[in-house]
Amino acid sequence: MHFIEVILPLSLPKTFTYSVSEAEYNYIKIGMRVAVPFGKSKIYTGLVLDLHQIPPTLYEAKEIHQILDEKPIINEFQIQHWQWIASYYMCNLGDVFRGAMPSAFILESETIISQKKDFNVNESDLSDDEFLIFEALQHQSSLKVQDISAILNKKNIFPIVQKLLNKNVLSLQEEMQDEYKPKLIRYIRLHEDYTSDESLISLLDSLNGAKQKELLLHYFQLNAQERKPISVKQLTEIAQSTSVTIKALIDKNIFEEYYIQEDRVNFDKNKTDNNLVLSEAQQKTFVEIKESFLSRDVSLLHGVTSSGKTEIYTKLIEEYIAQGEQVLYLLPEIALTTQLVSRLTAHFGNQVAVFHSKYSNNERVEVWNQVLENSEKAKIVIGARSSLFLPFSNLGLIIIDEEHEQTFKQQDPAPRYHARDAAIVLANLQKAKVLLGSATPSIETYFNAQSGKFGMISISERFGKAPLPEVELVDLKENYFKKRMKGHFSLTLIEAITEALSLGEQIILFQNRRGFSPVLECMTCGHIPQCTSCNVSLTYHKFKNQLRCHYCGYSIAKPTNCHACSSVDISAKGFGTEQIELELAELFPTKNIKRMDQDTTRGKYSFEKLIDSFKNREIDILVGTQMLAKGLDFDNVSLVGIMNADTMLYHPDFRAFERSFQMMTQVSGRAGRSDKRGKVIIQTYNVNHNVIQQVTHNDYVGMYNEQLYERQIYKYPPYFRLIKLTLKHKDFDKLKEGSMWLYQVMQQHLQLPVLGPEEPGINRIRNEYIRTIMVKIPQNVSIPNTKKTIQKILNSFDVIPQYRTIKVTANVDFY
Ligand code: ADP
Ligand code: ZN
Ligand code: ZN
Repeated sequence: MHFIEVILPLSLPKTFTYSVSEAEYNYIKIGMRVAVPFGKSKIYTGLVLDLHQIPPTLYEAKEIHQILDEKPIINEFQIQHWQWIASYYMCNLGDVFRGAMPSAFILESETIISQKKDFNVNESDLSDDEFLIFEALQHQSSLKVQDISAILNKKNIFPIVQKLLNKNVLSLQEEMQDEYKPKLIRYIRLHEDYTSDESLISLLDSLNGAKQKELLLHYFQLNAQERKPISVKQLTEIAQSTSVTIKALIDKNIFEEYYIQEDRVNFDKNKTDNNLVLSEAQQKTFVEIKESFLSRDVSLLHGVTSSGKTEIYTKLIEEYIAQGEQVLYLLPEIALTTQLVSRLTAHFGNQVAVFHSKYSNNERVEVWNQVLENSEKAKIVIGARSSLFLPFSNLGLIIIDEEHEQTFKQQDPAPRYHARDAAIVLANLQKAKVLLGSATPSIETYFNAQSGKFGMISISERFGKAPLPEVELVDLKENYFKKRMKGHFSLTLIEAITEALSLGEQIILFQNRRGFSPVLECMTCGHIPQCTSCNVSLTYHKFKNQLRCHYCGYSIAKPTNCHACSSVDISAKGFGTEQIELELAELFPTKNIKRMDQDTTRGKYSFEKLIDSFKNREIDILVGTQMLAKGLDFDNVSLVGIMNADTMLYHPDFRAFERSFQMMTQVSGRAGRSDKRGKVIIQTYNVNHNVIQQVTHNDYVGMYNEQLYERQIYKYPPYFRLIKLTLKHKDFDKLKEGSMWLYQVMQQHLQLPVLGPEEPGINRIRNEYIRTIMVKIPQNVSIPNTKKTIQKILNSFDVIPQYRTIKVTANVDFY
């Protein structure tokens, strides 16, 4: 009797036992995948966690369908790491399994596949089975994996589907709506007729246009210098020529044009920048980091914006890969990878890989396998939080840039992990070092550094010794009173914008929209239109003339009269980025103004496109939300305006002051990055507010000390750990009763501060009512024991018949 223990990609608290033959038993290793039947008729991809000879007691073990791998695709480190995540973040191992793997690795019978739109395959390269599937998809737009099973009259079809995915013939449903469309860059090269010297000389003689000749000479020069593809943009810039001249040469068959995907270009490229020289301050910091790592596994690099942290990381990475170790570079935002990839590939060439949830399954599988094989092609992996789950086996260093960013915490679905904290655990398993970098560290991290748990290194000099921007405060109360305002713009801000524009410089305007969306209000009765399924006011979108719910997407046309009293006197209240954009267009009608927020960056790569055209100076003024605050590097921005600082400050959240400081400091850091000192104008009703003053004087430590004091008094991190339970149900009374039961039982059993059950500000989303309960765990109380008790209580809650349908989720270290 031979058995294996299998994790399924389902949110279930247990592993499952399957029986295998002796031959299979000898072949299977921990970390391989198997296709297994589950429930009445479903097939899932499971992961082998253990092999043993003990039959299950509660059910009869089913046989597996098939072994899917020839060798493990998950290693022991990962399994241990997953187990830690499941236990620390109070979720199931299956949740972590599902969250950790590219979905092409976990096919199931219900998975829907379709044919790729622009696939490129020779039909004769397909096996008979593959061809049958291919053909079936000529007649139907999509198929379930289990339909394929019927077509082929086979049970074991995951490997065939997998092969077709790898051949780029099929795609999974999740990819279908939104296929990966990388940006294409236009390049030119000399036509092959002109590769010999004689032909070149006669070509130059034959050209009579001076412009064309000059362009060609510039091309030769570039080609000799760089030995890498030459883009049309690069050539026109250097030759100060136009695309018309290039086109003339293409038409004459002297140049050929071709296209390369932007993020692939970098991989094909040779290193271009081998001689990175650190400034004195950077070099000193670099040495201090290495010293710190002698005694500490985790260190914080606290460096002002534009101190060149990336360059310091680069030098550090060099040392780790020279020892053959792997390096993981985590970023808070996928959109930031493009910039970083070009910077790092310039230095490390094709040792850099990127792991992206926006990449196709294929590409993700490719990177996964490279990391698994410890390949030279993926010595350095850049990615957002999910790249933490790649099969590293020889990690030397994890860099977490902008470590304070809340996007490192996964909110939904489980596992609700914090990538920074999970990275520290992973590094510990592999004896690797962790470097956390930020100009505005989180209170938690700075606390750990102060208490000696983490090492700390500071750099307060900007690269090129550029001074920090000058901050000017504009008192909105006074300016409204003195009528020095046009719409939401103070005359001070308008003047500064005008001046910057006249110098050809660019401007960033920041408007935090959180809790401050424009709504329509009836001036007669005060009614504000609400969403029908969420308790939230509808947001007014002027451009589409619509009211929209930001939680569920419900929308209606802008009403002409009030739904409550029929009055026609309704007007917009509050302002968002859209309104700022409109006001700007009136103030500066000839300038190119663009907006960057969730609405304008919904499409794939729309964020990158905006950033690119801003970098290329095609945009004069960029208006945006907090997206702008995330470590972007622009060299021509001389002015940053913060439209209204107060909305951030008064957000109902214990981190509001910390975040306001971080956000304002980070956006300010985008100003004046080249030789010129930048300027920041903050419009606020509270010029004397401590946080505003701390931002003005770049006083991180002042902010930290003040917040730390408050956190202690009000029982928040880092002094207390928070676990938030969220309960949801369609029936308001049932939810109220159930959450009260849970609260009371927790009160009795925990001897800890338990708060709630609270109705959040938005207490109904998609027709489900919401209540939350918060547990605060002080430093001297065991966290694992507390979680065990909470889990026990949740288990008993789950078996109470009338509460069984209430959904409860736990969010540990909730952000
Ligand atoms: P930070 O991440 O600390 O805000 P960056 O790493 O983005 O700063 O650096 C700011 C700018 O200064 C970038 O354009 C970068 O290329 C440049 N820079 C920093 N250090 C160096 C260096 N040692 N040599 C050349 N350029 C540098
Ligand atoms: Zn009304
Ligand atoms: Zn809604």
